[in-house]
Amino acid sequence: MLPPFSYIAVHSKQEALTSLASLAGAALLAGGTDLLVRMKKGETHRYVIDLTGAAELSGVKDRGGTLRIGSGMTHARIGAHPAIAKTCGGLAAACSAVGSPQVRNMGTLGGNLVNASPAADSIAPLLVHNAVVTLESIDGMRSEKLERFITGPYRTTIGKHEILTSVEADTLAGYNEGYRRVAKRAGWAISRLSLAWALNDADGVFKDVRIAVGSCTPVPFRPREAEAFLAGKGRERPVVEEAVKMVLDEIRRISGMRPSFAYKLPVVRDLLLSVLGGDSCS
Ligand SMILES: Cc1cc2nc3c(=O)[nH]c(=O)nc-3n(C[C@H](O)[C@H](O)[C@H](O)COP(=O)(O)OP(=O)(O)OC[C@H]3O[C@@H](n4cnc5c(N)ncnc54)[C@H](O)[C@@H]3O)c2cc1C
Repeated sequence: MLPPFSYIAVHSKQEALTSLASLAGAALLAGGTDLLVRMKKGETHRYVIDLTGAAELSGVKDRGGTLRIGSGMTHARIGAHPAIAKTCGGLAAACSAVGSPQVRNMGTLGGNLVNASPAADSIAPLLVHNAVVTLESIDGMRSEKLERFITGPYRTTIGKHEILTSVEADTLAGYNEGYRRVAKRAGWAISRLSLAWALNDADGVFKDVRIAVGSCTPVPFRPREAEAFLAGKGRERPVVEEAVKMVLDEIRRISGMRPSFAYKLPVVRDLLLSVLGGDSCS
């Protein structure tokens, strides 16, 4: 049973911003796949503002070097979008792997980011694309790097009266990129670990290496030291092994030694060896 609330359906972004600013105790609802689960567990809100009628929150724009993706885009639409598949392939793959078809048809990018679960599938690929989120309120607009926006598990810098309206991601033409996740069971399980990557290499030499690891640390992260170590180096096994060791050390440094690492870390290791070694770059 859901606790009682007043349901407000808005028809534009402006109406959503005004309602959010004027109604004390209001929560935003996009797909509801996180919010309604929480409310069924007892979370209460006086008002629930349904954003699905605000068409401005949907759509994708190519801005030359970046893609602007509306926060209201569902995982299913992102997974099927040709421009996203072409230049943000890891994100398309990640959104296609979310939950079940029902969850992908309802759940949105904005909801995934604002909920900020350590296992949220869209975060790691967006980190690889140096994503920046745009937040709007009736007082104005601000942009923030996704890396800074998510401050901890289920925590972000979003203000009480702000709506996440879009996400801007670098387009990475010419990179080999992808996303892999390991989950308990397909269909509804969340990721137990995930890896997003985008590699730019020529003649066996790494020019630019971008990696993000999800579900192993409180917030998905980019192992910058390992990325920098690989840049300019060849794809030889000892080089790749050294970089993988650096990533695993960083996970342990951030999270300590968790019981789940007995199975997680060997899987992260093998995935990284395969991706960086050139066996699985699609
Ligand atoms: C069965 C099941 C399986 C799932 N599997 C996965 C999975 O495999 N991978 C995964 O990553 N997630 C999974 N999820 C979690 C969920 O589906 C995603 O996090 C989804 O993207 C949430 O989006 P939503 O639109 O449903 O968010 P909502 O539930 O509508 O909102 C989530 C939170 O974000 C806020 N919010 C939403 N939109 C905005 C906005 N534009 N601006 C500001 N605040 C906003 C809401 O107020 C709420 O606090 C699963 C959930 C279920 C129920």
